[in-house]
Amino acid sequence: MAKYLGPVCRICRREKTKLFLKGSKCLMSKCPVEKGRKPPGEQRRRRRKVSEYGLQLREKQKIKRIYGILEKQFSRYFEEAEHHPGVTGDLLLQMLETRLDNVVFVLGFTHSLRHARQFVRHGHVLINGRRVDYPGCRVKTGDVIEVRDRRTSRQRAAEALEATRSREVPGWLKLDKNRFRGEVLSLPKLGEISIPVDVSQVVALYTRQ
Ligand code: SF4
Repeated sequence: MAKYLGPVCRICRREKTKLFLKGSKCLMSKCPVEKGRKPPGEQRRRRRKVSEYGLQLREKQKIKRIYGILEKQFSRYFEEAEHHPGVTGDLLLQMLETRLDNVVFVLGFTHSLRHARQFVRHGHVLINGRRVDYPGCRVKTGDVIEVRDRRTSRQRAAEALEATRSREVPGWLKLDKNRFRGEVLSLPKLGEISIPVDVSQVVALYTRQ
């Protein structure tokens, strides 16, 4: 499966916005976007007006980058959201936000989403007391997400919790730092998902295809 292995800050520069892909560096002034670094290649290219289609495409790319998923997976999420009753854009974000790797990251058990994915894959995380090593597993209301009671697992999570202590945990999750646990209080509502993306543009993109 194709996987982007290049510098991640380049992705944010390309999207001209902070996508928070690199853990604690994203909160510091050395973030290239904060420093005002231009998108890659822009110095050499002449600026052209971006079409409506181009804008919609960029919004889709941003979502994929933020949640670290590929085109095929993304299309599957969209199809599922479309077939559920409700607002497609909201459902799409809800599905992505409740992925286990994202929840582990949002709770602060890892520095970044990339680390969260690895942390889950390596078996450091339990859902309701059972080990789950599939990062795409979706959590539901009432689920308890816990870092495995092993020295290495807890040590890594403790370091990340310390480094990310200034980050706020959204209202749909409850974190118990001392027990390395998080609980899903409800499914996230649109207002509780703070990503710099206009999801309506993505819906418009798919409905025109
Ligand atoms: Fe790099 Fe994070 Fe800044 Fe993005 S937000 S450019 S990943 S430091």
